[in-house]
Amino acid sequence: MMMADICNCARGPACGCRGASRRVVVAAFACTAVSLATTRFAAAAPAADADERFMRIALEEARRADFPFGAAIVRDGRLIARGRNLGRTTDDPTAHGEMVAIRRALATRGSKALRGSTLYTTGEPCAMCMGAILWCHFGRLVFAASVEQLATRIDQIMISSADLASKATFAPISITAGVLADEAMALFPERK
Ligand SMILES: [Zn+2]
Repeated sequence: MMMADICNCARGPACGCRGASRRVVVAAFACTAVSLATTRFAAAAPAADADERFMRIALEEARRADFPFGAAIVRDGRLIARGRNLGRTTDDPTAHGEMVAIRRALATRGSKALRGSTLYTTGEPCAMCMGAILWCHFGRLVFAASVEQLATRIDQIMISSADLASKATFAPISITAGVLADEAMALFPERK
């Protein structure tokens, strides 16, 4: 398992990350600006075994989906919503696993419940889903397969969640990548 916390800073050399790309693997946030912004969330970050436990719930959803993506939303260590891709079932191209989980959580608990919560998803969120995650003020995002990994198998909008987060300073978020990525990638056949 490869797992990495990602610096989502695009502020240049002054931030201390020396322009490191999102693929740089670090033990903790390398960027001062981001670690300041995320400290209050990082302190409450669950242990790696909890990350795997909740990612397995997202993977369960992905295996039941009409296109293999799944998501789970966790607040204070408890699962509050889950969702899977329903785009083909409902003829709705916006019905990504993350969007389905977010809409379910909003319908049952309201937007306050999402503030500071953690979203687990089997694939790095696309621009639409990451926008929703930021607007909902999630405190933490954990994903399995990255956009670059997914792009070897399926079409992807080639922008990372960290890139998008770096443009939304009003919504600080901690991002953890690569949790059970191999299991998520195994859901997609290789391109021929
Ligand atoms: Zn999406």
